[in-house]
Amino acid sequence: MLMLVVENGMHCNSLTERSWVLVVTGTIKGLMTSQLEEIGCQIILGNTYHLALRPTSEVSLLHLADITEKGVTFQSPVDGKPMLLTPEESIEIQNRIGADIIMALDDVVRTTITGPRIEEAMYRTLRWIDRCIAAHKRPNEQNLFGIVQGGLDPVLSYAIGGLAGGEDKDSFWRVVAQCTAALPEDKPRYVMGVGYPLDIVVCSALGADMYDCVYPTRTARFGTALVPEGVLKLKHRTMADDTRPIDPTCTCMVCKNYTRAYIHCLVTKDAMGSQLLSYHNLYYMMKLSRDLHSAIIEGQFPEFVRSFLQKMFPKGDVPEWVCNAMEVAGIDISLCCAPFSSSQD
Ligand SMILES: [Zn+2]
Repeated sequence: MLMLVVENGMHCNSLTERSWVLVVTGTIKGLMTSQLEEIGCQIILGNTYHLALRPTSEVSLLHLADITEKGVTFQSPVDGKPMLLTPEESIEIQNRIGADIIMALDDVVRTTITGPRIEEAMYRTLRWIDRCIAAHKRPNEQNLFGIVQGGLDPVLSYAIGGLAGGEDKDSFWRVVAQCTAALPEDKPRYVMGVGYPLDIVVCSALGADMYDCVYPTRTARFGTALVPEGVLKLKHRTMADDTRPIDPTCTCMVCKNYTRAYIHCLVTKDAMGSQLLSYHNLYYMMKLSRDLHSAIIEGQFPEFVRSFLQKMFPKGDVPEWVCNAMEVAGIDISLCCAPFSSSQD
């Protein structure tokens, strides 16, 4: 999992003085700690559940979880036995691990669910945050993050912790906008499980600061590189005799030393290719968050957004949800959009 901290200028505290953070569950496959440092990762953290359970593979807790007022019961990925994780235990484990950022236990529901279960999740998450705060033994060293739950219901609002669960893009950005408008100005806002580079630029425009996503390394395993134009599929046969680097504008170790043709050759054969792609993709995300950060600090953010969109959508086909979000964010992107832009994501 990659965590990016963009720092939207206003919501600074000791945590966001660092412009970005990397969070890793266990390890990032195939990348050494020294390489992560090289890319610019300042903090490496682990997810409570993963570190506590040492699972062999990523398991979606959502599928296994049985949630009651006591806590979350899930099947241990180690031995299959049911395990109860209470808000207090979750904080105790995280206090012991000592990460800079720790998360409150929340009642997660899928954003596609409707009805009273959403309301229940919101109120339970609120009750649990009180239990987490009471259990937190190292408040001066570790930042406890509360999580906003409440699905996509605009009356209940606040689903900043439950996004990236299959909701449509228009619902997604509207909830982010609603949350950032209501959350305190002086605290970092973390949109969990988001996202693609485009999502991160849009959410930052709406006032979010932090993100996490497995996308850069996961997509690398499928032979895909992140580039300013979107993505580059290295497995495609046109790459076989392309002697350019993945991204000629990228200054990473991979782009300095390898051609697309060479990486094409690797990704179609073994794991080494996806390691190189992971390296480039993490470098890309780090640079994106640093550039976002400096654009905000220098008062150049609207220009940054326009140049980002022009590179990604050179034909002017910026998706309609992005246009809608930018209108709410007060960023004029009319220059980037063709007269009849497509409404497809
Ligand atoms: Zn690169």
